Amino acid sequence: MSTPSTYDENNIFAKILRGEIPCDKIYEDEFTLCFKDITPKAPTHLLVIPKGAYLNIVDFGKRASKEEIDGFFKAVSQIAEEQNLSQSGFRSIANTGLNGGQEVPHFHLHLLGGKKLGALVGQ
Ligand code: AMP
Repeated sequence: MSTPSTYDENNIFAKILRGEIPCDKIYEDEFTLCFKDITPKAPTHLLVIPKGAYLNIVDFGKRASKEEIDGFFKAVSQIAEEQNLSQSGFRSIANTGLNGGQEVPHFHLHLLGGKKLGALVGQ
């Protein structure tokens, strides 16, 4: 798990991973942490993040080990099933960079569900 020069160690999710600020934890294992989004946009709104320092989904795919990538997506599946998202359906979003509207520069997957969601892309 190396750190790219552009990764900001002081981003809010890095602070959560270091235990410097709290989170409403749903799941944790060796490679992955999942917690509730602080500003939920759906009845269930979770964020799944790798523990390694990855800027976004592209950086994660390029630099993460097979173990980390495998662990991350196994965790997503487990969380989706345990949180009752799988059966009724849900949306997963990885906002990336400027055009994607990414606010926190640590790769995260939003899991949104608990009701029928509206249009995928707004204005
Ligand atoms: P994005 O725009 O994809 O970067 O999404 C960042 C998300 O992180 C937003 O949905 C925020 O509500 C959420 N967020 C920011 N700070 C926290 C925090 N301390 N705990 C949980 N979620 C947070």
